[in-house]
Amino acid sequence: MSGNVPLDELGLPDLGSDPTHVYRMGVMGGTFDPIHNGHLVAAQQAVGDLGLDVVLFMPAGRPAFKQDRQVTRGEDRYAMTLLATSDNPMFLASRLEVDREGITYTADTLQTLRDHYPDNVEIYFITGADAIIDIVTWHDAERIARLAKLVGATRPGYDLGRAERVLDSSPIDFDVRYLEVPALAISSSYLRRRVERGQSLRYLTPDSVIGFVRKHHLYGSGDEIVA
Ligand code: NAP
Repeated sequence: MSGNVPLDELGLPDLGSDPTHVYRMGVMGGTFDPIHNGHLVAAQQAVGDLGLDVVLFMPAGRPAFKQDRQVTRGEDRYAMTLLATSDNPMFLASRLEVDREGITYTADTLQTLRDHYPDNVEIYFITGADAIIDIVTWHDAERIARLAKLVGATRPGYDLGRAERVLDSSPIDFDVRYLEVPALAISSSYLRRRVERGQSLRYLTPDSVIGFVRKHHLYGSGDEIVA
């Protein structure tokens, strides 16, 4: 259970029923403010490269490292994530973190998922490589290392050596791999800036997300936001 909501109502995929098969579930963690095509391409690339059965997109409720910053309501970020993933049968959006009270800790999310699924379901936690570098400082990092394999999605030209040095010098044994994703030249902050300037988001995020941003006047958009 998460709060008062049964787990099977939180958008969790049905996996693990065949005990002779190993299932691989990606958990795509991010603030998704807003979600964009870079996130979607990264998840699709992870499916191909890592042989994932499904990717669960997990918008953070109250992001741990963003307490001093204004973040769009979890409900709106979840709605955009749901819209963006709705046409891909391998992608699902989860309310698990937006419905959980308090600061969002990845260790809690992974523990909930680990408790829900049998051992033949492997969990791959996918997020930006910059976030992965900080993982040594996250709440209960040791537990994260026990619960999931980590996947750092990078932009081309990213200094992987730095990430490797930071994680190698940690006493915690993280199982981490990296994916280079050209589409990650796109970022949420770039999209927010474009909206502020009245510039188009077309081809940067799905049209359904653009419609949501416009309808709900997110990121300072007025009715005049260019589709
Ligand atoms: P962030 O610091 O805003 O993001 C760092 C970089 O990674 C940004 O360039 C960001 O680009 C990119 N990024 C973020 N999520 C991504 C994804 N799923 N795929 C590809 N690139 C991604 O990171 P954040 O969004 O706050 O946190 C990322 C994840 O780490 C979340 O699941 C969060 O809950 C978790 N986290 C946990 C703790 C903790 O447990 N203590 C602390 C920090 C973060 P965009 O802005 O374009 O996404």
